Amino acid sequence: MKKIVFATNNEHKLAELRQIMGNVFDILSLNDIGCHEDIPETADTIEGNALLKARYVKDHYGYDCFSDDTGLEVDALGGEPGVHSARYGGVAHDSERNIDKLLANLQGVSDRRARFRTAVVLIQGEETHLFEGKVEGRILTERHGSGGFGYDSVFCPDEGDGRTFAQMAPQEKNAISHRGRAVARLVAYLTLQAG
Ligand code: IMP
Repeated sequence: MKKIVFATNNEHKLAELRQIMGNVFDILSLNDIGCHEDIPETADTIEGNALLKARYVKDHYGYDCFSDDTGLEVDALGGEPGVHSARYGGVAHDSERNIDKLLANLQGVSDRRARFRTAVVLIQGEETHLFEGKVEGRILTERHGSGGFGYDSVFCPDEGDGRTFAQMAPQEKNAISHRGRAVARLVAYLTLQAG
């Protein structure tokens, strides 16, 4: 099977991605290729950060690679936390603090519309490609469900039946999620090429 690096060590994302495209590609993580350094994510857009990560892996390790970056955009907060979603609560990747801050900032706010947006950047040989995905929904006033990760327990997608992402089976979430959609475009592209 063809190998491709997914520039992450996030076990949730790796599991999601292997579930979506594990039968087409052997997906290697950063750990799998011996990349243990902190890759800079200093761009001010999710597209920019995805490009930084993929470029880093290609330049330092030589592998064809894709990377993703996601932001949760809340209308009533002017698009925040956006590119700052991972460290919104002040500590990187502390989802409970991130959610606490989000709910506090939305206290008493009735317009709770929000969306997840994902940018996936693929670097293959000399070529760079961008794939995007988004899902519209709203932020609830309290947590529901224990699956998923990040803001899943407070995000209710418009297309669902009222459950949050954290109350859905992984396959259900992947079918309509921001990352699921961006990756579906990536997979369609890669499959077309392979054929
Ligand atoms: P990343 O760029 O994919 O690492 O995403 C940045 C932050 O957005 C993460 O730390 C999570 O808090 C949040 N996030 C990303 N994807 C999801 C998701 O599928 N569900 C809920 N939160 C997510």
